[in-house]
Formats: sequence, structure tokens, C-alpha cells
Amino acid sequence: MTQAHLVVKHLSAGYGGFLVLRELTLEAAPGLTVILGPNGAGKTTLLKALAGLIPRQGEVLLDGAALPLGDASGTVKRGLALVAEGRQLFPQMSVAENLELGGWLIPKAERARRLEQAFSDFPKLRERAKQLAGTMSGGEQQMVAVARAMMSGPRLLMLDEPSLGLAPKMVDELLAIARRIADAGTTVLMVEQNVRKALAVADRGYVLERGALVAQGPAPELARSDIIRQAYLGQA
Ligand code: ATP
Repeated sequence: MTQAHLVVKHLSAGYGGFLVLRELTLEAAPGLTVILGPNGAGKTTLLKALAGLIPRQGEVLLDGAALPLGDASGTVKRGLALVAEGRQLFPQMSVAENLELGGWLIPKAERARRLEQAFSDFPKLRERAKQLAGTMSGGEQQMVAVARAMMSGPRLLMLDEPSLGLAPKMVDELLAIARRIADAGTTVLMVEQNVRKALAVADRGYVLERGALVAQGPAPELARSDIIRQAYLGQA
């Protein structure tokens, strides 16, 4: 199967009468694309709009076909999975149960196969299969959230600040996981605050400020650009 390609044209979205994103045009080609930008720029809003969780205008095309709006299971069936900020695990359920919930749309036998795959992709989670998700560390919980999203067999995985609040070593581990998922054939679109580390693992990036794109390009070029060096890396 070819790898998924997301194309977004003239996307506008917001809350009530308040427009956050204005006419964004961007794409997530196979590989790992990162969205950078300051707090409140609209990064989370972008992922929510792409997932069809908030009203939007404009085109959102996955491999040329429009993704649905306001239809969570339809969106998953079309191959999109979102790991939202805050992970949204079921804390009183075990790791294995949380993972199984990520496969709620697939037949039982296939779900068991994917669970086995998740445990081989995330060996740390196999050791913790029976542990209640709420008792795990922040990094481990983030890993469960990513593994749960992968249970639906997505073609496009969207990650909202996977490294938020994690210790540096765990940040590296989560970003390496995102890279590995992209290398294994799932297109990844990731929002990150950790600019330097995110650009080190990404193929391409966009910078979003006040709801508009202000820079874009291959990750190494973006890392060298004035806008990134001055605004985000403190190297004027
Ligand atoms: P952060 O890094 O702080 O999460 P962000 O770039 O993800 O920032 P968003 O969370 O998308 O930014 O927020 C963009 C704007 O939309 C902000 O002005 C925010 O206050 C507003 N906003 C976010 N969620 C809602 C909501 N549910 N209702 C109304 N306004 C919202």
C-alpha cells in the first residue's frame, strides 16, 4: 500500500464566532512533518480541525479523498488517528485494556493480532500489560496513548505535543518512536514545542503563528532559518 499523503487547502477553523486558523494550506507527505509555533498559535486547533472534531472550512484530503467532519468513527475508518494533548487514557483500566479500546472498530481476531504487534513494537508495555494506566509515569502513559492510536492501523497518525511535561530522556524516546512509526510507513503529523529535538527527527516542518503559517521547509533548512533561530532557539 502506498503511504498516505494529506493535503490541506484554505483551511479555516475556530470556536463559535472566533476564527483561529485562517486559510491554511499545507501538506503532510509520507514521513514525519512537524508543526511548530508559540503557545496559542493554533496548533492544537489545527489537529482538531483535521480530525473533524471542530467545524472547519476548506479542503482536507487524504490521498485525494475528503475526510469527514464530525464523524469520529468515520475518520478512524478512513485511516486517521489523533493522540490528543493530555493522552486521554482510561486511568482505572489496564494498559492492555486501553490498547484494546484503540481497536474497537476492528474484528476481535484482528484486534488480538494488533495487540501482539503493539507489544512487540513497545516491549515496555508488554511488561506493564496488567498495570492500571493511571499509575504509570507520564512518559509511559504517552507511550500507551501512541500505541493505542496505532491499534486502529492508521495511515496518518497525528500527535499533539507528545513530549509535553516529560523528562529529557523520555522526550528523546517519544520522538524516536514517532520517527520509527514514520519509517515503518505511517505518515506522521506532529505538533511539538521542543523545537530543536523535533526538527532533528522530522523530515519537514511548518511554523504557525497567530493562526497563519509563517515558515515551512525541509527540517534541516528550517532549523537553520532566521525565524527558527531567533524566535525559538535563542540564537540571533
Ligand atoms: P498550546 O501550545 O498552548 O497548546 P496551540 O498553538 O495549540 O497552543 P490552540 O490550543 O490551538 O493553540 O489555541 C489557539 C487559540 O484558540 C487560543 O487563542 C485559544 O485560547 C483558543 N481556543 C482553544 N480552544 C478553545 C475552545 N475550546 N474554545 C474557545 N477558544 C479556544
